Amino acid sequence: MLYRSTNNQSPLVDFEQATIMGLAPDKGLYFPEKIPTLPSAFIRNIKSSSREDICFAVIKPFTGSSLPDETLYQIVSETVNFPIPLVKVEEDIYALELFHGPTMAFKDVGARFMSRCLGYFNRNNQNKLTVLVATSGDTGGAVASGFHNVEGIDVVILYPKGKVSKFQELQLTTFGGNVSALAVEGTFDQCQSMVKQAFADQELRHQKELTSANSINIARWLPQQFYYFFACQQWEFDQPPVFCVPSGNYGNICAGMMAFRTGLPVSHFVAACNANQAVKLYLDSGTYQSQQTVPTISNAMDVGDPSNFIRILELFEKEYSQVKKNLSAFTFSDAETSAILKSVYERTGYLMDTHGAVGYLGLQKYLSENTGVKGIFLETAHPLKFSNVVEPIIGATIPISPEAELLFSRDQLMETIPATYPALKDFLLAS
Ligand SMILES: *Cc1c(COP(=O)(O)O)cnc(C)c1O
Repeated sequence: MLYRSTNNQSPLVDFEQATIMGLAPDKGLYFPEKIPTLPSAFIRNIKSSSREDICFAVIKPFTGSSLPDETLYQIVSETVNFPIPLVKVEEDIYALELFHGPTMAFKDVGARFMSRCLGYFNRNNQNKLTVLVATSGDTGGAVASGFHNVEGIDVVILYPKGKVSKFQELQLTTFGGNVSALAVEGTFDQCQSMVKQAFADQELRHQKELTSANSINIARWLPQQFYYFFACQQWEFDQPPVFCVPSGNYGNICAGMMAFRTGLPVSHFVAACNANQAVKLYLDSGTYQSQQTVPTISNAMDVGDPSNFIRILELFEKEYSQVKKNLSAFTFSDAETSAILKSVYERTGYLMDTHGAVGYLGLQKYLSENTGVKGIFLETAHPLKFSNVVEPIIGATIPISPEAELLFSRDQLMETIPATYPALKDFLLAS
């Protein structure tokens, strides 16, 4: 399998090279040159297949000869070593719970897969590879957890000091070992700009091998297909489900659409968005325009210019009519999100986080306009992760899980640095 750049100005590369490079030299995103087709017997037999076998069959055409079968099987087994249950919330509405992994959000799946791939690709390298990321909260935790103890790789995470939740900070700072957390005295944008300067600094890069664990990396994007197949495995009806995905950068939904193009039976996709609605505006008008980012209570979805949108276009040969046929988008306000979170909790006892609540709203809206279908919304994070927002909405305390309790008992290790590039460079050269 070879990958081309969505800008079409870069050479074709294999899975290994695309993973290591992240972004193509022409600044495009990597995309499979040809979309594979799964054997129809695979879907017919999915209910009796093991989760590991499903993942292996799904991802093998994409990784090609970059990973030996045995290694790939080991990697996918470690990637999905936690439950991903499909739970009935109400008549016709199901939740696919993606928050049972180590950092309680769906980004664990992509981060665990990518970290293990990079560890393998770097196996014969005498030099350590340093993964450098800036985070506003969720991504850093998944990356830290995914790469913790991966041989040959160091992780350096920059986060804006005092601007992530306590829970998120604990997830960044309690690993230690090969994971270093830098509390930057500045904003997330400053953290991001410091990381960009490091990647552009040729002098530094001669001394340190750097890579990013950006969400556009194919090794984070493609394994997100796995749980759409797990949903299909647990689906009990003849008619395929509608999938509603709370979306920010559109990597998650775009992975589901890739699964659909390879043969997964899906009735329709719905992108549920908060006030950040660039894709909805595209579907309404046929023209795409990036928007200013608007802050909301589902802040992991606060993206004004979603990077993966281009991949959705590629999946449908850039045909607006085809995109529209398979994808709908709805936008919801914070007030609507809070109200549904509270009312579903009071009516059914099911507690969603704010991102899942946007997903519920999207599915509910689609079902109200299209009778006779059932659907699944992706619950992308555990409500505990956003307890500072969820608890006031429901007027109750969310019970702490044993995993969370453990997190609060651990020691934090971080270094505080000013928001300047020389401070980051000093740290990198000293470590
Ligand atoms: C990252 C994230 C999203 C958005 O996912 P995309 O793949 O960027 O669309 C939604 N919910 C939560 C909890 C997240 O962390």
